[in-house]
Amino acid sequence: MNYKDALQHPIFKIISQSSKELDQESYVIGGFVRDFMLQRGLPKDIDIVTVGDGIKLAKQVSRNLPEKPKVQVFKTYGTAMLHHEGTEIEFVGARKESYSENSRNPEVENGTLEDDQNRRDFTINALALNLNKDHFGELLDPFNGIQDLKNKIIRTPLNPDITYSDDPLRMMRAIRFSTQLQFNIEDTSLEAISKNSHRIKIITNERIVVELNKILESEKPSVGFILLEKTGLLDYILPELTVLKGIDEIEGQRHKDNFYHTLEVVDNISKSTDNLWLRWAALLHDIGKAPTKKFNKKVGWTFHGHEFEGSKMVYHLFKRLKMPLNDSMKFVQKMVFMSSRPIVLANDEVTDSAVRRLVFDAGDYVDDLMTLCEADITTKNPKKFNKYHNNFKIVREKIIEVEERDHIRNFQPPISGEVIMGTFNLKPSKEIGIIKEAIKEAILEGEIPNDYEAAYQLMLKEGKRLGLIVNNHN
Ligand code: ATP
Repeated sequence: MNYKDALQHPIFKIISQSSKELDQESYVIGGFVRDFMLQRGLPKDIDIVTVGDGIKLAKQVSRNLPEKPKVQVFKTYGTAMLHHEGTEIEFVGARKESYSENSRNPEVENGTLEDDQNRRDFTINALALNLNKDHFGELLDPFNGIQDLKNKIIRTPLNPDITYSDDPLRMMRAIRFSTQLQFNIEDTSLEAISKNSHRIKIITNERIVVELNKILESEKPSVGFILLEKTGLLDYILPELTVLKGIDEIEGQRHKDNFYHTLEVVDNISKSTDNLWLRWAALLHDIGKAPTKKFNKKVGWTFHGHEFEGSKMVYHLFKRLKMPLNDSMKFVQKMVFMSSRPIVLANDEVTDSAVRRLVFDAGDYVDDLMTLCEADITTKNPKKFNKYHNNFKIVREKIIEVEERDHIRNFQPPISGEVIMGTFNLKPSKEIGIIKEAIKEAILEGEIPNDYEAAYQLMLKEGKRLGLIVNNHN
């Protein structure tokens, strides 16, 4: 079969020509070929394998390109990379690999194209297209990857037990590809992952997080998390989630399975947002429920304070996984901490002051919070489902109304500490805090509008109540 269509871009002719000049055979391999066959759109990077020196080939290609792009060399790996028209092109010499017990970094020696295809993780990632002049565009598919693409199957070229044990990151990659492409992992592969799940311990957290993020960025992330749970990997990576699994029953009172509920929330939110951190917030919004779970004879199961507990756990979890401890982490914490606020609101009649408080506390993130809370509605009771959604619609409308009228989102007190000090001739003291708090409360309660004059009058009233005297020289 000839796939010249995949190689229409002039760069492939240049690589072909450069290889000929060096008397090396070259092939395009991996994700590029896979994604072309799947018609997934043009891939961002191209992997070239050459039987010979990959670095030399990269340099030759650069010489043959009009813009002579810089070649980045990774000596330890014997690979080189260059950018051309926004695409990253990687060059590697065909190699044979052998692994040792404690590391996913193999011993490497030069090899044939076949050796190189053998070391690939999945049959669908081992597809190669010939770039050599006489066979340009011919497919090399020793493991029947095309059939697996058609049947939507993830399968390893060699014995899966060895493949996953050699490089346990492949277990994460299998589950990630299965989630992204909506493919099934072949049974023996899945068994091998379960058997080798403990080997994930030799993989760095950074690499695990890359795969977790890709799972979370998929259309239906639950597919990946269910596989991670089934194979035992999730216990090693995110034990905070696996402990949410299961339903307890005492005296006929049951609570929901918070693990599967969480996954439903993640799938729901993925329909409304591409924001990775909001998806993380959905994944972690209930993690505080495990440590706060209690049974009470009168009210049944409770999870008091799980939002606060959960937001603290977010920090520890991010730290453990070496994820950024920056504003993204704080955002996730805030979402988890506030995750029950709108639902409490929506259970009752939605008052202006409750909405004002919500906007005040959530600030710029109030819309994200509403998105999270809408995704959190997983009740199978259609009456309740409609009631909550309708109430949230009202909350969203009120947010806009209150915003337009009161400008609460990034609340700045209309009366500053300086004005209070000047008015009553005060040094910094606790009275200033009391007055400021009273003004804020009155605005949030809707007793006064959010403007200078109304706040000024309230300040005078509060000052009088505190026994302060107005400074006449002011
Ligand atoms: P994506 O860009 O979606 O991650 P990709 O297949 O291009 O997909 P890369 O990580 O760029 O993924 O890897 C390029 C190719 O290198 C893969 O297609 C596969 O053939 C091979 N590969 C990558 N990682 C491994 C691994 N851990 N074990 C074996 N082969 C691998």
